[in-house]
Amino acid sequence: MDELPVVVAGAGPIGLAAAAHLVERGLRPVVLEAGPQAGAAVAQWRHVRLFSRWSELVDPAARRLLEQAGWRAPDPDGYPTGEQWAAEYLVPLAEALGAHVRVNARVVGVARRGRDLVVDAGRDSEPLTVHVEGGERIAARAVIDATGTWGGPNPLGGDGLPATGEREAADRIGYRVPDVVGEQGRYAGRRIAVAGSGHSALTALVALTALAERHPGTKITWLLRRGAVGAVFGGGDADQLPARGALGLRARAAVQAGHVEVVTGFRTAAVERDGERLVLVSEDGHRLDPVDEVVALTGFRPDHSWLSEVRLDLDPVLRAPVRLAPMVDPNAHSCGTVRPHGAEQLRHPEPGVYLVGMKSYGRAPTFLALTGYEQVRSVAAEIAGDHEAAAEVGLTLPETGVCGGSGAFDVEPASPGGCCAAPRVLTLAAPGARP
Ligand SMILES: Cc1cc2nc3c(=O)[nH]c(=O)nc-3n(C[C@H](O)[C@H](O)[C@H](O)COP(=O)(O)OP(=O)(O)OC[C@H]3O[C@@H](n4cnc5c(N)ncnc54)[C@H](O)[C@@H]3O)c2cc1C
Repeated sequence: MDELPVVVAGAGPIGLAAAAHLVERGLRPVVLEAGPQAGAAVAQWRHVRLFSRWSELVDPAARRLLEQAGWRAPDPDGYPTGEQWAAEYLVPLAEALGAHVRVNARVVGVARRGRDLVVDAGRDSEPLTVHVEGGERIAARAVIDATGTWGGPNPLGGDGLPATGEREAADRIGYRVPDVVGEQGRYAGRRIAVAGSGHSALTALVALTALAERHPGTKITWLLRRGAVGAVFGGGDADQLPARGALGLRARAAVQAGHVEVVTGFRTAAVERDGERLVLVSEDGHRLDPVDEVVALTGFRPDHSWLSEVRLDLDPVLRAPVRLAPMVDPNAHSCGTVRPHGAEQLRHPEPGVYLVGMKSYGRAPTFLALTGYEQVRSVAAEIAGDHEAAAEVGLTLPETGVCGGSGAFDVEPASPGGCCAAPRVLTLAAPGARP
């Protein structure tokens, strides 16, 4: 089996880093990317600026490979956009990996050769078989699933399922941070409801506020499931990721300046049509004024459907590997308090199968690229048989006020303010304003 390749599903930052580590260890990766380019998911949020610096976004093994190919590293203190992360790092990295990376190759299944989920015999001795869209099958000694969660945005519905009428209103609901420059016609001068409390929602509020300043008819309503704004704006100046702290401060300023109407305790139950507009209705029957557009930024969830024939051990709540889940539970951990972890925490009953990167966190929103780079260093060492290096995990992550209990990117866990407070329109006083 040792002569077989290690299949890496997904050529995002973590899948490509996995490939770089495998190459360094003399193993043969085959990276299969569903999209038309490396970093296909990152390229879709090209207009969003990352809150991490370049120095926190380049994997060490990838850097060594790139430097051999003559790559010039960007300014380590600069903050790239998604477009720059893809164009200046991920695409060159895929080029340096050469024939190891294949695009337009979607993985649609993984199984133990000739054995379905139920069969015990041969799970240690038979290779894995990776099914690629179009019919190709690849025998593999191990499979690293780095397919992320970008393809699985959570619905608007407060109970995690689509709200009544949500699917029918899909033409007016966006599930990604809007590109208010590229899609100006869609948002300028319109009434927009933004749902969510994570980094993406704050990014959207700041961008839409800037649009509203240029196009005065633009009205923004911010919907929070929680009963109070609480820690939504994050760590501010205390955030060890300064760009992220600054985003929270800008979002707070936009709300305090009255550009954004805040409705707390709003858990969407239905989306109704009112002519060309949409009316959002909460679980307790509260109806909002009609809006033209809804931006639902309520988090992402992993897709395990194509892993149905391999034996995974997933946490019932987060859908993360069961040993990792308590370490990344957003109710208890911020990005900075996630302990370093590797192959041991990521293993499953199915030998040789690992979920890494954003997908490994399941529904937990606190994933950072640095964490993923350490995961794949350890997993590559484990697959190569270097158990000592695999076990020696080490990583210091920046502490942020944003992740702690409030949801880093987009998730709203049951949290401060409670799950069930009645909808309330809030006004936030500006600093120094009289109560
Ligand atoms: C808007 C936004 C901003 C972020 N900012 C930061 C930040 O500042 N700092 C930070 O550390 N982290 C940040 N993150 C979190 C995280 O680092 C990124 O999401 C990162 O892209 C995750 O890398 P990944 O490789 O796990 O997944 P992805 O980047 O999602 O890559 C997965 C790849 O797999 C492909 N794929 C999907 N399904 C299949 C399939 N079945 N077969 C083959 N290929 C498939 C996709 O096309 C994609 O290219 C941010 C995330 C978002 C969404």
